[in-house]
Amino acid sequence: MKFEISNQLVESLRPDKAELDINKPYLFLHEHEVQKSGKVEAVNTIFLTNKECPFKCVMCDLWRHTTDEPTPEGAIVHQIEYALDRLPDASVIKLYNSGNFFDGKAIPVSDYRAISGLISPYDHVIVENHPKLTGPYIREFKDQLNGTFEIAMGLETIHPYVLPKLNKQITTDLFKKSTDHLNEIGIDVRAFILLNPPFLTDESENIEWCLRSVEFAFEAGVTACSIIPTRAGNGIMDKLQENGDFVPPRLEALEAVFEQALKLKKGRVFCDVWDLEKFSDCDKCIDQRKDRIDKMNLIQNIIPNIECSCRT
Ligand code: SF4
Ligand SMILES: [Zn+2]
Repeated sequence: MKFEISNQLVESLRPDKAELDINKPYLFLHEHEVQKSGKVEAVNTIFLTNKECPFKCVMCDLWRHTTDEPTPEGAIVHQIEYALDRLPDASVIKLYNSGNFFDGKAIPVSDYRAISGLISPYDHVIVENHPKLTGPYIREFKDQLNGTFEIAMGLETIHPYVLPKLNKQITTDLFKKSTDHLNEIGIDVRAFILLNPPFLTDESENIEWCLRSVEFAFEAGVTACSIIPTRAGNGIMDKLQENGDFVPPRLEALEAVFEQALKLKKGRVFCDVWDLEKFSDCDKCIDQRKDRIDKMNLIQNIIPNIECSCRT
């Protein structure tokens, strides 16, 4: 059976959302990440609880930690206070909201002033946003910040057949124009890029298109690319997998694409290690492989691969 992708189909196959408290972020983390300058800095990442993103991308599972109603005024401010009270000092803060920071129903515009006040000790601020929502509020928020500003945007893939089928409603042209505009007003951009998006199932093609997408993003003006191995689990992706239209990447392919992207030396490349064990069948080497990727994320260089009987 072939699917006609629509918002309705994507939503109809979803499992339940998580139960959330609108006054608490659903997660917060303290990590380290190499910056544009080459220096490794401490980063506090707060995953905000807020209204679901209006887009319904096929591969997305971020909606699980969102609400159906517009976020009430003040809730985001409470959430940031809650997390900052519990996090150690850091110089970089990521405010990730499972959607678009500049969607007024997710992050109320009236909260910008209080948010920027709370994060004023940070040297660098990163949020995520859809290229279609590149509008005047961005500058308004940026002007209230003490530190430099960066926006993470999903490019996902530049494959001409796959990108339109993701239901993301972007084009490579729109990504480029948004990046140009953000760069012009002094904002850095990072791109999220998928390895093994749905509708592309051959491993070597997936590696090739992931790398091409990384190259495109750097040429478009991003300073960093994050490679995300695509996962099932959101309903529609499981159906596509059953149907043969989605194949999860093998860890070997993720390692290969990460190495090749690092070799480009066009900017920082990060490899997402969330749920990495899902992409490996070997319990013996998975922890070492994850450690290796974590190290490579920090040093931005290739280190020797892990030897294991699973790779003979
Ligand atoms: S734009 Fe981002 S958050 Fe929204 S549905 Fe697509 S991937 Fe998910
Ligand atoms: Zn192994």
